[in-house]
Amino acid sequence: MKVLKFGGSSVASSENINKVINIVKESSYKNNIAVVVSALGGITDLLLEAGKLACNGDENYIKSLKTIEDRHLQVVRELIPVNNQSGVLGQIKKMLNKLENTLEGVFLINELSNKTSDKIVSFGELFSSYIIAEAMKNNSLDAELKNSQELIVTNENFSNAAVLFEKTSKNIADFFKQNSHKIVVLPGFVAKTENGEVSTLGRGGSDYTAAIIAAATNASILEIWTDVSGMYTANPNFVSEAFPIKNISYQEAMELSHFGAKVLYPPTIQPVLKKEIPICIKNTFDAKAEGTLITKVSSNTNPIKGISHIENMALITLEGSGMIGIPGISKRLFEALSLEKISVSLITQASSEHSICFAISNNDAEKAKTAIDTEFSYEIEQHKIEPLIVEKNNAIIALVGDNMKSHQGISGKMFSTLGKNNVNIRAIAQGASEKNISAVIAHKDIKKALNTLHSEFFENQTKQLNLFVVGVGNVGGKLLDQIKQQQTYLLKNLRLQVRVIALTNSKKMVFNEDGIDLDNWKPQLEKGEKLNMDLFHEKVTDLNYRNSIFVDNTANENVSKLYADYLKESVAVVTCNKIACSSNYTNYLNLKQLAREYNAPFLFETNVGAGLPIIDTLKNLIASGDKVSKIQAVLSGSLNFVFNNFNEENSFYNVVEQAGIQGYTEPDPRIDLSGVDVMRKILILARESGTRLELDDIKNDSFLPKASLDAVTVPEFLETLKTETAHFNNIYQKAAANNCRLKFVAEFDNGTAKVGLKEIASDHPFYNLDGSDNIVLFFTERYPVQPLIIKGAGAGADVTASGLFADIIRIGNN
Ligand code: ADP
Ligand code: ASP
Ligand code: MG
Repeated sequence: MKVLKFGGSSVASSENINKVINIVKESSYKNNIAVVVSALGGITDLLLEAGKLACNGDENYIKSLKTIEDRHLQVVRELIPVNNQSGVLGQIKKMLNKLENTLEGVFLINELSNKTSDKIVSFGELFSSYIIAEAMKNNSLDAELKNSQELIVTNENFSNAAVLFEKTSKNIADFFKQNSHKIVVLPGFVAKTENGEVSTLGRGGSDYTAAIIAAATNASILEIWTDVSGMYTANPNFVSEAFPIKNISYQEAMELSHFGAKVLYPPTIQPVLKKEIPICIKNTFDAKAEGTLITKVSSNTNPIKGISHIENMALITLEGSGMIGIPGISKRLFEALSLEKISVSLITQASSEHSICFAISNNDAEKAKTAIDTEFSYEIEQHKIEPLIVEKNNAIIALVGDNMKSHQGISGKMFSTLGKNNVNIRAIAQGASEKNISAVIAHKDIKKALNTLHSEFFENQTKQLNLFVVGVGNVGGKLLDQIKQQQTYLLKNLRLQVRVIALTNSKKMVFNEDGIDLDNWKPQLEKGEKLNMDLFHEKVTDLNYRNSIFVDNTANENVSKLYADYLKESVAVVTCNKIACSSNYTNYLNLKQLAREYNAPFLFETNVGAGLPIIDTLKNLIASGDKVSKIQAVLSGSLNFVFNNFNEENSFYNVVEQAGIQGYTEPDPRIDLSGVDVMRKILILARESGTRLELDDIKNDSFLPKASLDAVTVPEFLETLKTETAHFNNIYQKAAANNCRLKFVAEFDNGTAKVGLKEIASDHPFYNLDGSDNIVLFFTERYPVQPLIIKGAGAGADVTASGLFADIIRIGNN
């Protein structure tokens, strides 16, 4: 015989029940079958809700009852041919009347014991099993209904009753011995006490009913039919890359379900384990999928089979100097919990015995505090033990696998993976059997922890980078183009999955948790919500993705002030905006320290020389022990463009205008022409070389006339470039007369820095600097005479975007 159990979603509608009937039909050609069914999906919750409402004197219980009635009557009408409907509808209505009477009683006396609640909630399975048995008969199947309350006997622990196995097994065996039908349909979850009172086996208990029947009848297999294709490597609702485990041992399945894999109710394994009856978890909605086979030993030798988690846990700590070396403390502690029927999911005790830490359900936290503080009231009064510390909103995650004990380094890998992703671990437990390693973490970290562990232990080591991109102007737009073009290459060659999760322009923002489709980001952003950088931060933090990167493509001071907030959340920052790194030294240093402390890279290669690897080279020099003595550089692509093109025919004003059109200048050209932009860049290089310097410490010999320096607005400033033509021509002619070219040079020498326009002679490396190129000469201990030279295009949206992209990939390769 086979036992098939169908869960709530499998029988949630007539359409689904028809799928169930087909599966049973197929299976019953060769076998006798027991079919255990849950209540129609959602009905158990509705029944419990109706009971609570009635108990609170809330007439809305009638509404819940009506919904329950409507759903069942609809299913009957859809499943049973019209000619045969009336009898079935009559029977359901009779049962509904009984339910209504019970609820009315609760409403009148405002009291709801677990016993009465069980009576109410049992109707869910009684309805479903009756309807399904009738539907099968109407499909010409040789099916018969048997109420499992007549078979399964329990103690009186209502709502979570314990099965009395001897009587139960005998009842079941006797029944099936005399049964002559091919298919027997039974309600799951429900039972009766020895006195004939209705009891239930705990939420999810239909799995257990099926296992009890399988064991008592020595079934060849127990099939659990549900809405997923097996027991997954992690909860598929949290980890999109999770996949069904083909084969797993009873012990492993038990650990996974005990630690939250809801697909199997934890007590289910016990009855079938003894008889070594295999369990197969199958998908009602994809019957061909292989599913998961649970057997005594698993053929799969992977040391880790799955990761599971339990939410809503409270971490409880009992500590105090009075606990050291005193026997019996743990006994008293756990006895107090046991008297309150509080179940403990994880325990740790340091060898100092100064504290004991354990995890229980959030719901039990208050009860536990009262019980334990009462138990230790004397010691607390004497200050030998502290009042119980309760921290709610935690979760437990557990790695499970029988073969972990024969593999070293798994816990090390688990904790370092979590650590690297800034998941704080509050407590750790590893059972002596080494079948599971579990840790307590904050609720907010569940998704990140599960995904990082899953990727570390089960995936092809693809690293996901999640980008939150601020600014889609010239540079931002190009960056998105480049990412789109390289996505496939990066995945294939570097195993990097680069996803853009959010985008903003100056007015709007858009989020897509699965990654924005870069083929049409513009209309998506257009349809986005109003830009709100506080809300943006909140969303990034709530998503709490691993490898999150905040990408700043703006030149905006307010955006630069947000970096610390992101770094503190372990979100990396990649920016082409120079303002943060050239702000006061304390701020610069603080950002670098936060990056270290929170393990979140802060990268700004494009602050100097756009895409040229200037800062990265400098970092490598310093990291390898070199010391910078002098830097000479032409760092303004814009000024270079201006002075390369400015001559007697092409006026200074015209050239500045062209530079603006070609995107070589900052939105405000004064930042370039005043030399401030170059000051910022040499400041950043000086700081990266290890010197504490402020912007005010840098000497700036401006080549601008007083009128230009005094101009208040951008248009006024541009106007002075016209009116002061003579001033600029004069500078040009003087240099030309000396056979020199004009370059705006930045120098850092012996701890001081200066910038200014210089006449450069033809034998100098700066002389032949074309277009908007930059050049940097690093004089160091290792390069004392012949400097290390970096030269190339130093401005423009394309190269700046590729510099940002390189920083993003640096994080990916890290
Ligand atoms: P049923 O109503 O069929 O008994 P359940 O809702 O009790 O179904 O269990 C199936 C659900 O368990 C899945 O839909 C899934 O959301 C959840 N689940 C949690 N962890 C896992 C896991 N590791 N593998 C598969 N499903 C899981
Ligand atoms: N209907 C019950 C519940 O929802 C039992 C079950 O479905 O397993 O918990
Ligand atoms: Mg279930």
